[in-house]
Amino acid sequence: MRLVLLGAPGSGKGTQATRLREHLQVPHITTGGMLRAAVDAGTPLGLVVGPIMKAGNLVSDELMLGVLEERFAQPDTRNGFILDGYPRNLSQANALDVLLVRIGQPMDLAVQLEVDQELLVDRLAGRAKAEGRADDSPEAVRNRLRVYEEQTAPVVDHYRTQGKLAHLDGVGSLDDVFTRILEAISPYADVG
Ligand code: AMP
Repeated sequence: MRLVLLGAPGSGKGTQATRLREHLQVPHITTGGMLRAAVDAGTPLGLVVGPIMKAGNLVSDELMLGVLEERFAQPDTRNGFILDGYPRNLSQANALDVLLVRIGQPMDLAVQLEVDQELLVDRLAGRAKAEGRADDSPEAVRNRLRVYEEQTAPVVDHYRTQGKLAHLDGVGSLDDVFTRILEAISPYADVG
């Protein structure tokens, strides 16, 4: 199954993707996680993207496409994947369509987790305490939510137009949301 999770920062994409990986036995491709690993390792990519991430801005489309192409070149993606954190704007959505068609793995479904702005702010503040992520400072959080509204929200329509969107309520317990996702993907999943 080839799946992309859409939702604002704090909507629970990462947590649900981790569970889905276990359930579907396909890799969880998280561009934010890959970039954080590059920053921690001090690679040339990490040095470039570190300050951009810290401010809550988007890394350039060109750099991101390179990261993604490299990841999709690995054989573990051949039986499907859960993509989390990409695409972040329409140009990335179009680039992803082209890439996936080229490798013969078009997207099955985009799952959008909808969560109220107020709850997002609360969740991100909680996570800032628990995890100490560099981009969970109040200013960076405000910026990330604005960037989401301006650039990433239109990606939802991209998948709706293609008839590939499942729009889900992202509020509730982790189990409740997971159950909703499993229901939405059941027509496409080999497992469950
Ligand atoms: P995330 O963990 O998905 O919230 O990503 C954390 C940060 O990594 C974002 O705020 C961006 O700075 C950067 N990032 C992750 N994915 C992308 C992407 N697809 N395009 C541009 N920047 C990204």
